[in-house]
Amino acid sequence: MARYTGPVCRLCRREKMKLFLKGPKCDTTKCPIERRPYPPGAHGRDRARQGSEYLSQLREKQKAKRIYGVLEKQFRNYYEEANRQRGITGENLLRMLELRLDNLVFRANWGASRSQARQLVRHGHVLVNGRQVTIPSYRARRGDVVSLKERSRTMIVVRHNLDTLGRSIPQWLDAGQEGFEVTVRDVPLRDQIDIPVRESLIVELFSK
Ligand code: SF4
Repeated sequence: MARYTGPVCRLCRREKMKLFLKGPKCDTTKCPIERRPYPPGAHGRDRARQGSEYLSQLREKQKAKRIYGVLEKQFRNYYEEANRQRGITGENLLRMLELRLDNLVFRANWGASRSQARQLVRHGHVLVNGRQVTIPSYRARRGDVVSLKERSRTMIVVRHNLDTLGRSIPQWLDAGQEGFEVTVRDVPLRDQIDIPVRESLIVELFSK
């Protein structure tokens, strides 16, 4: 599946908030949002946009796509599926995004960012229930055990991330084997998903 390969800090500046797409740099003063908290482009600073309903819905959708590294078509497919499921569509949508394998690797602190986590998956370092899975969009289920391959556990980048990131593992995951394994204890509830997105606006946008 395709992915965005352009400059990522522009994406945060476009949303006028930190989306934490770059790992450690995001917590330093080198983060461009600290110095230029306005949209990119020659007129980013001058453009005083009128806030319309459509604009806020669009921005929420873009934010969610960018945080999880999903492109438009795939995001739309997630929405369609969420809409077919029982329950609140917006919550279903976020739950599916949260259960992506690359996101689990990020949540387990093996990858500093979701894009680094995605690379770990693509390069075959990650196992699900003991079998190698190289598809970042693989959706985990309740009870799935996601682990790092034995030989991948010695990788400097993984060790460094585990030692330094210090992000707490979400309640719906159980960590084991010195942090090299996580089990999906349950599917996440909305209040266990800490992303700053108003999903109801995304649903309003797509249901027009
Ligand atoms: Fe966003 Fe991180 Fe770049 Fe800051 S450093 S603009 S938070 S990706």
